[in-house]
Amino acid sequence: MSTLARSIPSLQDTRFEEYDMAAHVHTDKCKEVFALLSDYLNLELPPDACGEIESHFAGCRPCIEFAESLRKTVELCRRHRPAELPEPIGTQAREQLVNAYQKMLAGRRMTSRQAE
Ligand SMILES: [Zn+2]
Repeated sequence: MSTLARSIPSLQDTRFEEYDMAAHVHTDKCKEVFALLSDYLNLELPPDACGEIESHFAGCRPCIEFAESLRKTVELCRRHRPAELPEPIGTQAREQLVNAYQKMLAGRRMTSRQAE
């Protein structure tokens, strides 16, 4: 009996290989993206800026992962206090995210050339 197992084409990491080579370029861009990220997730960003962020995501896996965790945090904040929070994200959550982000950058800095 032969079942034709259909092989699911896995997402190849070709784009992410490019990102490795351009890591030092991405670091600055990552900061920009991070600055816009909470607005982006709150849909408060003009389409232009959204497109810019999304095209950065296409080549920068750490930023995708970071955006995912930010999105989850935002959702959690909303779930806990649906009505009380006029701000998109609480100060404390924001600090945690900044820490996480800096850890991410610190990890990258080892592969990028000296900056500053
Ligand atoms: Zn990035």
